[in-house]
Amino acid sequence: MTHKFIPDCPIPFAGSQVDFAEMERGEARLMEHPKASALLFHKGQVATDGPALLRAAPSAIASLPLMDPGLIFLGLEEDGDPVFAASLTDDSQLPPDSLMDLRMHGHRLTPDALAVAGRARSIFDWHRTHPFCAQCGAKTASAEGGAKRTCASCETEHFPRVNPVVIFLIEHEDSVLLGRGHGWPPGYYSALAGFVSPGETLEEAATREGMEEVGATLSGHRYLFCQPWPFPSQLMIGLVSQAADKTIIVDKNELEDACWFTRAEVDAVFNKTGEAFMRPMRTTIAHQLLRAWLSNQ
Ligand SMILES: [Zn+2]
Repeated sequence: MTHKFIPDCPIPFAGSQVDFAEMERGEARLMEHPKASALLFHKGQVATDGPALLRAAPSAIASLPLMDPGLIFLGLEEDGDPVFAASLTDDSQLPPDSLMDLRMHGHRLTPDALAVAGRARSIFDWHRTHPFCAQCGAKTASAEGGAKRTCASCETEHFPRVNPVVIFLIEHEDSVLLGRGHGWPPGYYSALAGFVSPGETLEEAATREGMEEVGATLSGHRYLFCQPWPFPSQLMIGLVSQAADKTIIVDKNELEDACWFTRAEVDAVFNKTGEAFMRPMRTTIAHQLLRAWLSNQ
């Protein structure tokens, strides 16, 4: 089977038109730009205005109580306007019901808004969890518009990281194996996934996870595409993997259930003519992987 599927372009949480503008991050003049704007967050949620993101002038929020590190610089928009983001310590200044949980409702945003909001969310989470230097334990401080943190004691520079995760559709003949975690909504099934461990290739990680979670012997892994997943900072690397047979032994500590679904069943779910399972949300790579699998018969 060959995969020529092109996922939704841009891929959810990717394809931002904002130029990171690395050389200009630390420049104070960007704050004074007449068209500079800032996105607003509170506790990981982003303030929205319909399908767009709510914008405020940086000067208007400078006096509000902000979470560390204050305003972060996200980059320059297509017309050169600087865009920042800030995480408010309380939401009393925001319009009612403007905060959005990106994980649950991100599909309501435009693709570009989703991408830039996801990036900012990931960066804020990194700042929140890295107040101290991993080398010496002293306090760190944000630098270059939030692009890094530096330690005043040992001068180590710390940068935001992304964590690689393999997410793989297990295929055998004309069926695909999906699993569901404990506590997921009833009927919701998705592709299996796991973090890549030190010393592993992507293929080795998928093989190990397949054996651990469902006792499947996997081979023939093929890379399709990847997707940022800012909850908090994963890079989801999508594969299709071949199972030696349909025998599975579900590790009930890891999964509540795993089940084979035929192509006809998956097709019916995506065409809303069948209910064999509840499909993954559109903003997930699992949704895109299943669409890719369906498009390659
Ligand atoms: Zn240090």
